[in-house]
Amino acid sequence: MTKPLSGRTRVVAVFGYPVQHSLSPGMHNAAFQALELDYVYVPFNVHPDDLENALGGIRALGIVGANLTIPHKERAVELLDSVSPEALQIGSVNTVHNVDGILKGYSTDGEGFMRSLEAEGKSADGSRAVVLGAGGSARAVVHALAVHGAQVSVVNRTASRAVDLAEQLSGVLPGGRGSVRAIALDSTEARNAIEEADLLVNCTSVGMHPNTEEQPIPSEWLHDRLFVYDLIYNPLKTRLLEAAEAAGARGANGVGMLVYQGAISFEIWTGRKPPTEIMEQAITGARLGGR
Ligand code: NDP
Repeated sequence: MTKPLSGRTRVVAVFGYPVQHSLSPGMHNAAFQALELDYVYVPFNVHPDDLENALGGIRALGIVGANLTIPHKERAVELLDSVSPEALQIGSVNTVHNVDGILKGYSTDGEGFMRSLEAEGKSADGSRAVVLGAGGSARAVVHALAVHGAQVSVVNRTASRAVDLAEQLSGVLPGGRGSVRAIALDSTEARNAIEEADLLVNCTSVGMHPNTEEQPIPSEWLHDRLFVYDLIYNPLKTRLLEAAEAAGARGANGVGMLVYQGAISFEIWTGRKPPTEIMEQAITGARLGGR
């Protein structure tokens, strides 16, 4: 049963612009309710010019913490009191924790992706991975894969962005196992990299609602030795995932990453492990409801 709001209720926020379509309030409030925690998760539409004031508001209002989403993740790195080494390396913060007035920043996207991958029975260590895209989510995913020992090829439409990403992340990886290299999307090299890969991760927005007829690479590039992970969760089954299935490959959509990045944030704010099945139901229920 939902706890009634009271003077003791603790508040967690999400700042985005726009924030109206965020699935996080439903997901986190379902988890608070399941654990009977006296917390509430509230969305705030924060204009980019107001981010610094909004972060100050966390301190002033005694808010426990916040998620940051588009377009605030990068800018927040320089506005917080401290930032985790991982968030600093990726250059992005999606979780803020208010510890006695000190605002600490974290990035849970990469670890959320890894937990989701492991839940699918797929290990990154020693794998050959191709990541499509070089934007914000690709940075977190490439970093996590390489830190966990994968050989990563970053394939992007704008090749220079893939080169920049590979150079920056190669410079911060601990010595040894993982590696990152860059490849242009329209190239034989990209096709060859996918041919040799066992993991393909789509970190582009190609195929996302409303452009659901699109896919980021030709179906002929797919094969049955691949695990295809599409970060997109709207629709739940993209054209790419349909093509992967037709090629005999296993696959997963982005719901798992969304749930696990949220679960790690939840642990940071409350010190409790949330029920991930209930969080997943909250997301897929909202999706099936057409939101
Ligand atoms: P960004 O805008 O930062 O990056 C978008 C990427 O997509 C760029 O690499 C861009 O290439 C590429 N791209 C866009 N359009 C095309 C096109 N027509 N052809 C080829 N490449 C294209 O987005 P994010 O990284 O933030 O998000 C990417 C996707 O991941 C979104 O669908 C988002 O919903 C999803 N996501 C899911 C999460 C989850 O928890 N499941 C978490 C975060 C994101 P270029 O550099 O050439 O412009």
